[in-house]
Amino acid sequence: MVILGGGFAGIGVAQKLKDAHADVVLVDRHDYHTFQPLLYQLATGLLDDSGVGHSIRDLVHDQKNVAVHKTTVNAIDLDAREVRLDGMEPLTYDYLVLGLGAQVNFFGAEGAAEHAFPMYTLTDAVRLKEHVLERWEAADKNPSLIDDGALNIVVVGGGPTGVESAGALAELYRGDFARDYPNVPQEKARIALVEAGPNVFAMFKENLQKYTVEALEKRTVEVMTGEIVASVTPTRVTLKSGKTLEAHTLVWGAGLQGNALVQSLGLELERGNRIGVSSELTVKDHPEVYAIGDVAAITDAKTEQVLPQLGSVALQSGHHAGESIARRIEGKKAKPFKYRDKGTMATIGRGAAVVQMLGGKTMKGAKAQAAWGAVHLALLPTNEDRAKAIVEWAGAMTTHQRTGRITVTADSD
Ligand SMILES: Cc1cc2nc3c(=O)[nH]c(=O)nc-3n(C[C@H](O)[C@H](O)[C@H](O)COP(=O)(O)OP(=O)(O)OC[C@H]3O[C@@H](n4cnc5c(N)ncnc54)[C@H](O)[C@@H]3O)c2cc1C
Repeated sequence: MVILGGGFAGIGVAQKLKDAHADVVLVDRHDYHTFQPLLYQLATGLLDDSGVGHSIRDLVHDQKNVAVHKTTVNAIDLDAREVRLDGMEPLTYDYLVLGLGAQVNFFGAEGAAEHAFPMYTLTDAVRLKEHVLERWEAADKNPSLIDDGALNIVVVGGGPTGVESAGALAELYRGDFARDYPNVPQEKARIALVEAGPNVFAMFKENLQKYTVEALEKRTVEVMTGEIVASVTPTRVTLKSGKTLEAHTLVWGAGLQGNALVQSLGLELERGNRIGVSSELTVKDHPEVYAIGDVAAITDAKTEQVLPQLGSVALQSGHHAGESIARRIEGKKAKPFKYRDKGTMATIGRGAAVVQMLGGKTMKGAKAQAAWGAVHLALLPTNEDRAKAIVEWAGAMTTHQRTGRITVTADSD
């Protein structure tokens, strides 16, 4: 069987096939699994890249029936049961799992694809960190750049990616950078969060939305709701309302769509180009093909709503697909997928987070951040990763230092 994608979903499948009588091939274009919830910590120097990316080969070392290939999937022929790959022979399969994740949606904003800094991959986070460090070093040498907006950042999207990025960048600016660059007037280094809807964190209750805006403003983030980005250049962001913001950095945390490959499969796609699946997570007319994680539109049996694109949904759907395939190999019937909701949560900054449980109970502040930490530590792939994250977080809490704020590139000497 073939698993495409080594994210939460694909790794979840592989884990459940350890004892199955199956030859499993796992394909990903990277040799690492990306822990997306911590990308903003990499982008702001709190964690280094090995705290966010983990070797895929390492994750399946103890599974003798799993082979890993680092290559790009170019095409999938569902009728011929064939997967075409970069630089190697095509793979055929009895079972196929699509765990290819999503990709950024710029919603047609002019210039965004060229000039915006999305927050979806490990390279995105490294690119953002290096760009921000480079702008501060440039402004330190040539202060006239500050008035041109070299240090200003516009973050687009009032969902978890945008809010946590804006909060973390503000802490980096007002904490480490205030000490690193004492001659730069902090009031000239502004961070704005732009959200198209009337509120940030639309998925949370009103009291949590209000708390979030206050927590962001306390960190000096300027919250702009009801504003849509129309176009982007390397130094300016223009909004549909006509306002122009002087900023050399636009962080895009506004939206996702299904992986581009899924559009070539001849399947009917749901909102956001996600693949609709049965209650067992298989694809229409192809009971041998599973779609899981961000690439799939999975309907929750309990609420009848499509589940959000979350790590816990991806991991649980991956485990379910793996268990189902193992059962079917043994001649048993597969069961329908049931999602176990652990609550919706997001972090804003140090000691500030929000949690909303399924029944509607809410939590905020340090308590919510502890809950966020516990749930996300459990999602990390290994105990070493958990230990590393705890040490880095504890260090940052006590010293307020982001030790990863250095630039190391292969050609920097
Ligand atoms: C910034 C950010 C913050 C987030 N924060 C949270 C959070 O706090 N809590 C939470 O629960 N969720 C969070 N999420 C969502 C969560 O990370 C995703 O729902 C989850 O990673 C989806 O897992 P997946 O396996 O479906 O896809 P992915 O993790 O995206 O994995 C897909 C894999 O497929 C590979 N791939 C894609 N195309 C190809 C190809 N053509 N050929 C070969 N390989 C390919 C990719 O390299 C990747 O490894 C966050 C997401 C982002 C972007």
